[in-house]
Amino acid sequence: MIYNTFGIPATADRYLTVTDKEQLLSLIAQGALARPPYFILGGGSNVVFTGHYHGTILHLENKGIRLLTPDSPSDTLLVEAAAGENWDTFVQHCINHGWHGAENLAAIPGTVGASPVQNVGAYGLEAKDIIHSVHAIHAITGHERTFSNAECQFGYRTSIFKQALKDQYIIWSVTFKLSPRFTPLVNYTALADALADAHITNPSARQMADTIAALRWSKLPRPEETGSAGSFFKNPVVSPEHYRQLKTRYPELVAHPTPDGYKLAAGWLIERAGWKGRSLGPCGVYAKQALVLVNLGGCSGSDVLALADAITADVQNLFGITLEKEAIII
Ligand SMILES: Cc1cc2nc3c(=O)[nH]c(=O)nc-3n(C[C@H](O)[C@H](O)[C@H](O)COP(=O)(O)OP(=O)(O)OC[C@H]3O[C@@H](n4cnc5c(N)ncnc54)[C@H](O)[C@@H]3O)c2cc1C
Repeated sequence: MIYNTFGIPATADRYLTVTDKEQLLSLIAQGALARPPYFILGGGSNVVFTGHYHGTILHLENKGIRLLTPDSPSDTLLVEAAAGENWDTFVQHCINHGWHGAENLAAIPGTVGASPVQNVGAYGLEAKDIIHSVHAIHAITGHERTFSNAECQFGYRTSIFKQALKDQYIIWSVTFKLSPRFTPLVNYTALADALADAHITNPSARQMADTIAALRWSKLPRPEETGSAGSFFKNPVVSPEHYRQLKTRYPELVAHPTPDGYKLAAGWLIERAGWKGRSLGPCGVYAKQALVLVNLGGCSGSDVLALADAITADVQNLFGITLEKEAIII
């Protein structure tokens, strides 16, 4: 069984699967994670294994989605989901129960537990916009802690779980703040266009999630068909000065202002560097979206890194920008 969407075969010294909290606390008490390294694996949709993992892989399979505020007259519904739940199963469950707010994140691969780690985002929404709190267990001490939204220190594709507390806490469940009312969030141009093309002016939650899923799979490879880790690189943010220089050279450059400068589309940079649809050995750049590296068959982690390095060097030479990997390399 291959537990990563890139489809890279990998082995580890130990592989532990956990379904309930007592089991996890008992493993921790026995010191199962006391001798690093260990790696917490969700759906394996944001990781690239580069060889045998000399350590313990902890895979969470705890399940459960429940409404914490069944009788609340307020407009906020608190919904708790176990880390081991599949992310899209959670989104669909919420839609089916009339708990709204997560629709734009439909069909993102992976688990609920990983969603706060890189603050998953798509189509104008990020996990941080709907996360109320995160309940986690310290991997060494077993100490339980609930992080408020602010304590998670969310940023673009990052959080405290990827920074100061990297690999320290096992996220056990996430509580989301949702609403009984559906308010369509259509501030993303491609989404607005897709709805207009389908002649949908006032989308229902179901139509919204279905449109987003269709849009997503028209641009990205389905993991069950083609191996990938989704967006391989982060969209870089450059200084206003650097942006102006690039804009003079490339008037068609698209950028979004951020508090730190201008966020550029890494896919555009990679495409302009001539990599879209090209390959290096068994690893390629997806023909429909240059931000995605794909397994063309029999790809190893080293093949992925070789292609990533070649792309990074070309983008650096051409634009003076150092691409940062979004995928986690193990
Ligand atoms: C085709 C495709 C499309 C994608 N589209 C998007 C997109 O639109 N937006 C987006 O943001 N991402 C996207 N991704 C990336 C990926 O779906 C997300 O990063 C997702 O949250 C990863 O979930 P996972 O369970 O697979 O995590 P993994 O890949 O298993 O792990 C990712 C990281 O989270 C940590 N982690 C996982 N579970 C836990 C836990 N319970 N406790 C603590 N740490 C944990 C791991 O240690 C690791 O550091 C896409 C990926 C693919 C393959």
